[in-house]
Amino acid sequence: MTQILDGKAMSSQILARLKNEVNEHLQKGSRAPGLATILLGKDPASAVYVRNKRKRADDVGIKSFEYDLPIQTTQIELLTLIEDLNNRDDIDAILVQLPLPTHIDTSTVICTVNPSKDVDGFHPENIGKLSLGHPRFIPCTPKGCMYLIQASKAKLLGAHAVILGRSNIVGKPMAYMMLNTDATVTICHRNTQNLRQQTKQADILITATGVPHLIGADDVKEGVVVIDVGINKLEDGTLVGDVDFDDVKDKAAAITPVPGGVGPMTISMLLENTVAAYCNHLASRNKHEAYPSL
Ligand code: NDP
Repeated sequence: MTQILDGKAMSSQILARLKNEVNEHLQKGSRAPGLATILLGKDPASAVYVRNKRKRADDVGIKSFEYDLPIQTTQIELLTLIEDLNNRDDIDAILVQLPLPTHIDTSTVICTVNPSKDVDGFHPENIGKLSLGHPRFIPCTPKGCMYLIQASKAKLLGAHAVILGRSNIVGKPMAYMMLNTDATVTICHRNTQNLRQQTKQADILITATGVPHLIGADDVKEGVVVIDVGINKLEDGTLVGDVDFDDVKDKAAAITPVPGGVGPMTISMLLENTVAAYCNHLASRNKHEAYPSL
């Protein structure tokens, strides 16, 4: 019987755990965790994502600092705001909603966020730590995928993980995570020859291409664990993944639905990273108070 990996249910459990964790700190008299979210412009999809992140943060007791800036905001203005947030003691975490308008250099923005507040895990220092096998903040979507893979009880050691997509926010960090768990990893992209030959070898298949229904039953082997990151809107408005769920479901040992699989996990991972940043900041402040510098 195929296991349907329910990201919505798992995400609710994680949010409940985070809420308890934050409550324990508040009861000891600590300040609330602070998450700054920056949104440039009024792109409807980005606005929905940011609104959901703020709402969920509020639900778990994280204080939201909201910066909705006009699309004309200059790069200097944005970097100045980030520097200000980097230096504030009441803000543990900074999220800049991507994509940014084209007059702003995304890489410069990512590099300006203090790595200890980079809860998206995109800063080169955090990606470097992950690639070295010593992660601090792991990008939220692949981190959520890993929770789902673990819920499938799939054996990772020696498993063949095939990842479709090599973006910096999903494919590459996912590959590092799988390597760190001793899986053998294949990464595929647009120029991969004979994709089916690769996907049919997968014990664990993670798809993040943005191509609706790229993968059908003939592309996978019996008993595969399928994690579908893709969110694709069809012309009639239906949301589907990169995987044809109905076609593949009976062949898979476990599979994520779209929607309701990876999507809900991404927000809970952002908040898990935020609470981790908060705990790190509280711990380092206590250390400084206990051992004042001479
Ligand atoms: P990108 O567009 O940055 O990357 C897509 C990757 O897929 C690229 O590496 C590309 O190859 C590869 N690709 C595209 N077409 C094919 C193909 N036919 N065969 C093999 N590889 C292919 O996308 P993202 O990584 O940002 O996102 C991927 C998908 O995941 C999207 O649908 C996005 O909406 C969704 N997403 C969902 C999230 C969630 O929370 N559930 C979060 C983030 C993304 P190449 O490098 O050669 O161009």
